[in-house]
This record gives sequence, structure tokens and C-alpha cells, in this order.
Amino acid sequence: MLIIGGGIIGSAIALHCARRGLAVRVLDRGEPGGGTTPRSFGLVDVLSPAGPIYTPVRGQAVRETGEWLAAASAAAQAQWRVCGSLNPGLGPEAVLEFARYGVRAHWWSAERVRAEEPALRLRGPGAIHLPDDACVRPAAYLRVVRDAAQRQGAIWEEAAVPAIRETPTGWVVAGRTARRVVVAAGVWSPRLVRGLPVDPVRGTILETAPLPPLLRRYTPDWRQMADGRVWIGTSHEHVGLDATPDPAVAERLWAAGVAGLRALAGARIERTWAGLRPMPADGLPICGPWPGAEGLFVCVTHSGITLAQWLARRLVTVLAGQEAAELQPFSPGRFRRGRPPLRSPPAAPY
Ligand SMILES: Cc1cc2nc3c(=O)[nH]c(=O)nc-3n(C[C@H](O)[C@H](O)[C@H](O)COP(=O)(O)OP(=O)(O)OC[C@H]3O[C@@H](n4cnc5c(N)ncnc54)[C@H](O)[C@@H]3O)c2cc1C
Repeated sequence: MLIIGGGIIGSAIALHCARRGLAVRVLDRGEPGGGTTPRSFGLVDVLSPAGPIYTPVRGQAVRETGEWLAAASAAAQAQWRVCGSLNPGLGPEAVLEFARYGVRAHWWSAERVRAEEPALRLRGPGAIHLPDDACVRPAAYLRVVRDAAQRQGAIWEEAAVPAIRETPTGWVVAGRTARRVVVAAGVWSPRLVRGLPVDPVRGTILETAPLPPLLRRYTPDWRQMADGRVWIGTSHEHVGLDATPDPAVAERLWAAGVAGLRALAGARIERTWAGLRPMPADGLPICGPWPGAEGLFVCVTHSGITLAQWLARRLVTVLAGQEAAELQPFSPGRFRRGRPPLRSPPAAPY
């Protein structure tokens, strides 16, 4: 089996293939992690309530990520932390909706938020607290998944794949032939699978110098890392495949950060970067067999840090020749009737 792309999605698929005893080779064109994954915000979370299928999936995905990291004794290495999140964009009615989908949530008034997170200056009447939301350092998480996959026998090779070609004996990929190919090339996947409805959406993040402890929980825009640095995120820019940060966007994020977090005013920004979210046209992951192409599979999502383990486990069941009913809502075949217009994911993105 060949996997094209060694980001978090390709690495997690390689890991679960290798654990199941499937021979697997990952082709990546450069530095492992040269794609979107290490540029991510690193939240492993449920987001807003988004219906009876996607919300429980995200809840399970958060749990399964933590369970895998614990079993692999890699939680500390990945900087995994179940710290909970505060979501000022949601109203108290979201508590009931989350409860309907089996996700723990509380409404915290503005006073409660101030008491729990004195550094935060939230506008509005309060925020939804999701106690089970977690986070990782994305580059470190990618490293532990890739290392675990390699220990289980997955092989990494540096190769840029210009195209994939179907022949009577299988798929030809950068001079190799395979019966099954998984395209997990993030925003670059549509170059290999024509018609795959995925668009790049750039996100910019700023990193401060280390600061004293400010935030115990994160919000969708701000998180404090174990080393004290604060990450300030993140924008949604439709600029094609250009991952160069825009200074004007960085300035806007900084202004919002200073308005929302008291202690940032005097802080120094040490690093600014941007990454390209692979955004499926309807906001949901695209994972499974590509219609009309025997042996070709795709796996692309804008929420790869959260969903990699969940999607990889189910996709591997399909790759092993069995059914995975849970993947049905995310089937690439749902676009057979044409590509819907790009819209935001059903839950607000990072
Ligand atoms: C600013 C920002 C914040 C985000 N925050 C979060 C978050 O908090 N939580 C969350 O869950 N998600 C978040 N995301 C989304 C998440 O980072 C992505 O969904 C995830 O990283 C995608 O992983 P991937 O493996 O599909 O892609 P990538 O990490 O991009 O990996 C794809 C790999 O394919 C390789 N490749 C591409 N084309 C070829 C080719 N032709 N030949 C060979 N190799 C090729 C690339 O080199 C790359 O290594 C964020 C994204 C951004 C940009």
C-alpha cells in the first residue's frame, strides 16, 4: 500500500495500517512535516455543536487521540493537555445541544470566566466551557505518530509524486506500482485526484516570547504553550496556495489579542507563520474510496489534528477489505452529483 503525504493524516493512516500488519510505504516530497500539520494551532476539540453525526465523532476523536497517546506513552512528548476550552462565540443554549450529542459543556457567565481566567477580557455575557477539549504541539504530535508508525514497520521515502496513473496491474506512483493508493496530500491532494473538492484556506498564527502563566484553558484564538509562549490565531484567508504570512493580517490578530488578553500589551512577538487548511467544499472530512477508481482512496480534512486518529482507524478497516459504516457520512462519493459551493465547516474553524 502506498500513502502519498506524510503529514498527520498520512502518518496516522500508516500507523494504523502497520499495526494491522499491512505493508505500507509513505511517499512525501520533502521534509516530513513540511506541509500544514506543523503550522496548525494544535487544538483537539469538539468545536460548536454541528449535528448528530459530526459532533459525537469529534467527541470520540478527542477521546481516541488521548487514549492512543497514553497507550503509546507519548502524551508528554506531544505536549498533550486536556485543559478544556472557553468558547465566547456560543450562547447558553449550546449546553443543551452539546448534551444531546453526548458532549459535556457548561455555560460560564462573564463573572465566572473572570474568576477562572482573570487575564481574559471577553466581550459578551459569557462563554461555553468544554472541559474535555485538549491540545497538542502539532509538530511534536506528528513526530510521535510518525515514529510509532516506523517502529511498527511503515517505511518513509522521499519522493515528489507528479501524478498517479491507473494501469491494468495497479496504480503507478512515482515509478512504483501498488494495488492500493491513499492520497493524503492535504491541500495539494486535488493536484493528484482531479475533481476532489478541497480548497486552501490560509491561517496565520503569532507566537510571543515566554510569558508568566496567563491562561489555564484555551479559546479558539489564544492558547498558552507549556514554555509560556502565547499563540495568537488565526485568520481565514482565501489566497490560493500561498503560505506567506500577510503583515496586515498579523497586525489585525495582534490587535485582537491585546484587546482580549490583558498581559499581551507589552509582549514581544518572536515568530509569525501561516499554513494552508485543506478545506473540503462542505466542511466535512472526505475519507474513503474515490468513486470509479478501484484501489484509490483519499483522506482530507480541515481538522486533521483532531480527527487523524479517528479517521485513520476507520479507513484502515476499509483498506483491509471490511465495512466502516461510521465513515459513510464522509464518503468521497457524496460529491458525485457535483461540487457544492465552498462554505465554512458546520462548526466554526480555528
Ligand atoms: C493556521 C491553522 C490552524 C489549524 N488549527 C487546527 C487545530 O487547532 N486543530 C485541528 O484539528 N486542525 C487544525 N488545522 C488543520 C490541520 O492542521 C490540518 O487539517 C492537517 O494538518 C492536515 O494534515 P494533512 O496530513 O492532511 O496535510 P499536511 O500536513 O499538509 O501533509 C501533506 C503532506 O503531503 C506532502 N505532499 C503534498 N503533495 C505531494 C506530492 N505530490 N508528492 C509527495 N508528497 C506530497 C506534503 O509535503 C505534506 O508533507 C489548522 C490549520 C491551519 C493552517
